[in-house]
Amino acid sequence: MEERGNILLVEDEENMHEALKLNLEMEGYTVTSAYTGTEGLKAVQNEYFDIIIMDIMLPEVDGITVTENIRLQHNDVPVLILSARNTGSDRVLGLKKGADDYLTKPFNLEELLLRVEKLVQKNKKLQDKETVGDIYEFGKSKVDFNAQQAVTWHGSQVELSKKEAMLLKLLIENKNKVVTREKILQMVWGYNVYPTTRTIDNFILNFRKYFEEDSRNPKHFHSVRGVGYKYVE
Ligand code: CA
Repeated sequence: MEERGNILLVEDEENMHEALKLNLEMEGYTVTSAYTGTEGLKAVQNEYFDIIIMDIMLPEVDGITVTENIRLQHNDVPVLILSARNTGSDRVLGLKKGADDYLTKPFNLEELLLRVEKLVQKNKKLQDKETVGDIYEFGKSKVDFNAQQAVTWHGSQVELSKKEAMLLKLLIENKNKVVTREKILQMVWGYNVYPTTRTIDNFILNFRKYFEEDSRNPKHFHSVRGVGYKYVE
């Protein structure tokens, strides 16, 4: 079946959780389960998701607080809030704290699936950044993504590993934007195969060696502490 997206489902009512999971999986989504706010937060820190379906009333940390925390981490993942409470103030608070959409229980399953699909599509479109061609030049440097080669700032040619080329492309395609560590891990290393943060740091150190005249004061490759990395032309 076609891979439609990676969903984090944060819902503590087991019957509801199982029913939603089953239906989403039938639609072709991959679903990661969390039953408490804390589990939800942890999952977001470890993995990249295309959307989060979040109940409000949760053990430990409520869904609105979890959403707020996710936004504080500069994570723009779409959040669809589910709530048993049908009060306007809840909805407003959820949206204020960064949720993208809202459904009140009991809801129509078709409607939920439609909204999920819409949010996932919208997010994918937003992430369709300018595509860079096979060859990209900046300053005195040049990268050939296909050939996995680069010309450094001082004019020497270096061979890039496949992952180096992928990471370079990801950062360059998102220039001036922070690419989160979770996203890098998912895009370059694939789901659930997590190298340590140190690994990404080492890649960035290499990029600085190749492409920065003064690697201690990088112009192009920036680390954003606790969040991710950013390329600036
Ligand atoms: Ca609940």
